[in-house]
Amino acid sequence: MKPEQLAAALADLDAQGLRRRRRVLDGPQGVRVTVDGQALLSFSSNDYLGLANHPEIAVAAQLAAARYGVGAGAAHLLTGHHRLHHDLEAELAAFVGLPAALLFSTGYMASLGVIPALLDRHGEVFEDKLNHASLVDGALLSRARLTRYPHGDLAWLGRRLAESPAPVKLIASDTVFSMDGDLAPLADLLALAEKYDAWLYLDDAHGFGVLGEEGRGALNHVNPSPLTPHPSLIYLATLGKAAGVAGAFVAGSADLVEWLVNRARTYVFTTAQPPLLAAALSASLKLIAGEPWRRQRLADLIARLKAGVAGLPWSLMPSDSPIQPLLVGDNQATLDLADGLRRRGILIPAIRPPTVPAGQARLRISLSAAHSPDDVECLLAALHELAHD
Ligand SMILES: *Cc1c(COP(=O)(O)O)cnc(C)c1O
Repeated sequence: MKPEQLAAALADLDAQGLRRRRRVLDGPQGVRVTVDGQALLSFSSNDYLGLANHPEIAVAAQLAAARYGVGAGAAHLLTGHHRLHHDLEAELAAFVGLPAALLFSTGYMASLGVIPALLDRHGEVFEDKLNHASLVDGALLSRARLTRYPHGDLAWLGRRLAESPAPVKLIASDTVFSMDGDLAPLADLLALAEKYDAWLYLDDAHGFGVLGEEGRGALNHVNPSPLTPHPSLIYLATLGKAAGVAGAFVAGSADLVEWLVNRARTYVFTTAQPPLLAAALSASLKLIAGEPWRRQRLADLIARLKAGVAGLPWSLMPSDSPIQPLLVGDNQATLDLADGLRRRGILIPAIRPPTVPAGQARLRISLSAAHSPDDVECLLAALHELAHD
């Protein structure tokens, strides 16, 4: 793309109805938001536990700012690795039940760092077709061969693993799929990785804080009392969703983490996150573990929503997570439904191709522990009204 081509390319996006624009949020993130000047009831954040604007987390950040300032001032391998980062890594590793953990600035950066640190062009990466873009981009950056398997089709995956001559293999999967809300077959993936001597890289962006005892994430959900963790397991969680702050961590064996400290380029060549975020995350972790009512509330809201959609012309996709997509199908019908909700004061994003397959446009409803049962009733009433328009 040359500079003089940009205007025409943007007009083209407009013509196809694909141009994206940003809505401006005033005030804090939450279930009641002011977006582009309009007060709305929102079902559109990833703030699953309602922690993004929690006063205890904000105070922890303020105290750390007062004590240690704002900027980390350097990369982790120079002088940017603060005691707050170091202690948080130990807390996070213990929380998810793995030997060691490493903080990254974002989940996206973690995947761009981890996969190329382990595989080169001789390796092969196997990914579920519905994986998040960051896992795909990490594989592309590594220059390993990239094989994408049909969503959840582990028989297909097993055949390709058996055929692969690559000396180093890595299977990457979302745990909870971000646009569908369903859970990957984690125990079977672990078994396949073991059988074919492959790394298993699990992206728990939507499970951490939500799944498992005390919100310990997808691994705990599958097996609450892990035996010795498998050395080829790599666990990624992001900290800007349920944890309500920002950043991500990768957990696994001590050797894995040491290798990443040395070789993950998105770790080595970037300024450390402000230490105040580590203090905020430490406060968040206490709330995640200590307030099980947040997960209980989510479970209640999910059940209420599922019961209430009966009789609508659209159905929820199979999901037990806070991501509850309402499948509409047609692009225009999905946009019209989102518009209708917005006129009634409710914000839910319409997700269209290419983000999802053609003919599967949907409203991506995401629930939060900060929603009340009445909020869900309000959404259901609006949907029933719109169905009869
Ligand atoms: C949001 C998300 C990421 C990216 O995490 P950030 O910390 O926001 O960069 C990675 N994987 C999945 C599945 C996600 O949903």
